[in-house]
Amino acid sequence: MRVFNFAAGPATLPLEVLEQSQAEMTDWRGSGMSVMEVSHRSKAFIAVAHEAEADLRALLAIPSNYRVLFLQGGATGQFSAIPLNLATQDSTVDYVNTGAWSKKAIGEAKRYAKVNVAADEAAGNYSSVPAQGALRLTPGAAYLHYTPNETIGGVEFPYVPVHGDVPLVADFSSTILSRPIDVSKFGLIYAGAQKNIGPSGLVVVIVRDDLLGRARPGTPLVWDYAAMAKEGSMLNTPPTFGWYFAGLVFKWLLGQGGLAAMAERNRAKAERLYAAIDGSGYYRNPVAKEARSWMNVPFTIPNPDLEKTFLAEAGKAGLVNLEGHRSVGGFRASIYNAMPIEGVDALIAFMKDFQGRHA
Ligand SMILES: *Cc1c(COP(=O)(O)O)cnc(C)c1O
Repeated sequence: MRVFNFAAGPATLPLEVLEQSQAEMTDWRGSGMSVMEVSHRSKAFIAVAHEAEADLRALLAIPSNYRVLFLQGGATGQFSAIPLNLATQDSTVDYVNTGAWSKKAIGEAKRYAKVNVAADEAAGNYSSVPAQGALRLTPGAAYLHYTPNETIGGVEFPYVPVHGDVPLVADFSSTILSRPIDVSKFGLIYAGAQKNIGPSGLVVVIVRDDLLGRARPGTPLVWDYAAMAKEGSMLNTPPTFGWYFAGLVFKWLLGQGGLAAMAERNRAKAERLYAAIDGSGYYRNPVAKEARSWMNVPFTIPNPDLEKTFLAEAGKAGLVNLEGHRSVGGFRASIYNAMPIEGVDALIAFMKDFQGRHA
């Protein structure tokens, strides 16, 4: 039986796409093989790869002066690849610290460049984001990095920061494709696949042309953006299954009405869940209202001794992976694109029932 899976990542995927990949598994497009068993250089696979890119470009309206790369090493690999490609050892790079993922990006960048933390939300226990005016930006910085959605804290930027001509770099891992964005505001966008795109093992990088060709000596070839762009992300064997599966998800999103339709649905899901939490007098979400994530919704109950009971009873009701991240405790419901509104409604009904029995 399929459950409602609220995991933060790897996360729930659209059932229709899972079923399609299952139907094609042993005989992909009449080849007599699975897609995992064909050469990445075959005509058939290259067609799939190009179609996935074209569909992603259509979904996000990616301008023609941006390249789309399908890489490996996860978002964490990009924490290193970004300074290696866009900065020198002597450059200053600006980072906004809004939570666990920003912090990891900062830690890695420090190994490769001079990091200026433009704002640090640690003092407020990562429950909000800084205003644009509060950012202490470095004139002439190599780039400004931020995390539009903090997957663990459930904190999201309601605006896109600006830093003049300095390229804006954004870790969109947990919010990409949840709504339309204006790609032209960014120098580089990256996203690990396992939240809103497909299986883990794939990371999508969208990078403006003028930022290619700057990799410092010593940059691993597989993370050299120019080298990868030149080879169509096939400098070596790409994660073929992930790329194929991502392509199916992109088609699914187009079929759902694209990102404007997803935005409406995601907004409705999040609003419903936050309203249930705020109106309960029992559950609590710690994040400032304007910075609440549409994708990751952490919440707590007054008596932490009941957390195990909550999780066990939720599991019996077919609602799984609701435990909060080990660093923060409590609960977290991740409600990515593939989580249907019925899943959110089932969670809300369970929460009401639990409160009635235990509060
Ligand atoms: C999941 C996640 C990561 C880490 O991704 P990996 O693919 O495991 O390296 C980084 N940043 C954000 C915002 C994430 O949600």
